[in-house]
Amino acid sequence: MKITRLRIAGFKSFVDATDVSIEPGLSGVVGPNGCGKSNLVEALRFVMGESSFKAMRGSGMDDVIFAGSTNRPARNAAEVSLQAIVDGAAAAHVMKPGQTPATSTELEISRRIEREAGSTYRVNGREVRARDVHILFADAATGARSSALVRQGQIGELIAAKPKDRRSILEDAAGISGLHSRRHEAELKLKGAEQNLERLEDVLGEIT
Ligand code: ATP
Repeated sequence: MKITRLRIAGFKSFVDATDVSIEPGLSGVVGPNGCGKSNLVEALRFVMGESSFKAMRGSGMDDVIFAGSTNRPARNAAEVSLQAIVDGAAAAHVMKPGQTPATSTELEISRRIEREAGSTYRVNGREVRARDVHILFADAATGARSSALVRQGQIGELIAAKPKDRRSILEDAAGISGLHSRRHEAELKLKGAEQNLERLEDVLGEIT
């Protein structure tokens, strides 16, 4: 996956709509303390589906919405959208039914959060589930929790991590963590089917 553009509006310190073009060769973002460098990475993590308040440096998900300043009122919504060139195999999961993606395809993935109303996700304008976005990034070996985004202090945590946690980092890097989500989804469907079957047997038992 190659991220080419990030659009941020109402997210943390980015109160006005900000368009960041990620050109080939970009190797750093510099600026004075508190200017919003970390918030840029948090915006990336947010649109990739982050749901942990701790990872977003807040006490509730609504904390990512611009909270107001001395001369600007607080906002009621924040939106981050990301444009990326995605491998066809990873994009297939979020395509419209019956649509097959090209070998590599451009997608716009967005997440909007409204105060006390939660988040909505879209891919190319079409509403999708948070899980779909999670699987899309996992298949592309990236995502909010992946090793592609390194938080402050994360290297120290890695050194102290338990083998199981290290394994999940390797699985993310290998692009197979999406399989775990798919397995979980399949298990839920199977459980539902088993319950239906049991109910059917009960009904049949009553009839005969
Ligand atoms: P440093 O170099 O010190 O790590 P930085 O450039 O990474 O700084 P950030 O941590 O990205 O800066 O930005 C911090 C700024 O974002 C602070 O001024 C903080 O007040 C502001 N900020 C964070 N959340 C919100 C919010 N919800 N609403 C308004 N401003 C916010």
